Amino acid sequence: MTIPNIPDAQSRWRCTRCGNLTRFDVIREQRANEFWHFDLAGNHIVEDQELVIDELKDVRCRWCGAGAAVELIARIDEE
Ligand SMILES: [Zn+2]
Repeated sequence: MTIPNIPDAQSRWRCTRCGNLTRFDVIREQRANEFWHFDLAGNHIVEDQELVIDELKDVRCRWCGAGAAVELIARIDEE
């Protein structure tokens, strides 16, 4: 199965089976180094995060469930 590349400023995903352009289920494998800042009550926020591993594992069409049918296409300028 081929996994499409992640879209950039010039490209987007499209399901070749149903034409969906807007809804996808994305599975990513990530590992992060984070700085957690706790307040005195014990709640925390993540103030800094560095993704050291960020791999796209699968992209599936949200509507028809097709995995291998998602392709990368050029964006059309909307003006
Ligand atoms: Zn689809």
